[in-house]
Amino acid sequence: MGWLEVFVFLLGLVGGSFLNVVAWRIPRRESLVKPGSHCPECGHPLGSLELIPVAGFLWLRGRCRHCGARIPPRYPLLELATATLFLLLFWKFGPTGTALFYACLVLVLLATTCTDLMVRLIPNRILLAGLAAGLALLAVFRPESWLDAGIGLLVGGGLSLLAAEISRGGLGYGDVKLSGVIGFFLGWPNELAALFLAVLSGAAVGLGLVLAGVKTRKDYIPFGPFLALGALIGLFWGQALIHWYLSLVTG
Ligand SMILES: [Zn+2]
Repeated sequence: MGWLEVFVFLLGLVGGSFLNVVAWRIPRRESLVKPGSHCPECGHPLGSLELIPVAGFLWLRGRCRHCGARIPPRYPLLELATATLFLLLFWKFGPTGTALFYACLVLVLLATTCTDLMVRLIPNRILLAGLAAGLALLAVFRPESWLDAGIGLLVGGGLSLLAAEISRGGLGYGDVKLSGVIGFFLGWPNELAALFLAVLSGAAVGLGLVLAGVKTRKDYIPFGPFLALGALIGLFWGQALIHWYLSLVTG
């Protein structure tokens, strides 16, 4: 690994650390900057050493230094996931505007996966912030993809809206909006691979949980994480998947 890769990985750790704050505070309508990071149990503010991504968690052995409350492993996991995905983006797209564009998508996917799992919400504010940043980067670095992104947004949102109306609550409007944002970033037709994988993985895991007796058919199973999973696979391997599928169909 070169220095640039180390830098990208560290940037991802910091990005993931920020996402932890976003995922906790945005659904609670709290400010992102004030107050500074603190233990949710005792309110003790975190020192600068404790704020270092992953290393701070390991140093504290996963507990608050003051009250001993357990820090959820979600914190270092999200930081490592963000850093790993940033590195994958860098390897696939190099130091380009396209890598930045897709980094926005990665941040939106990780943040909404966390909020959907924690509080069953996909906040508009996260989607809109991601879309706004994406629009700006599209205008600067990928002006040739306007049409793909526009069609992607309409098809992604439209297909999911249809599914939400048919399923009557099986798919929420947060999922519909997230699907539109994914369509915007991946563009037509790459988003189709992402949507297909989301439905496939969601159905498989849902069925598995019901069969294993963990959930009943009436239980809520968040779909956001499956949309995110499908989008990530579509982002890195979408074109290869579509080619493979077309070669199957056309023989
Ligand atoms: Zn504490």
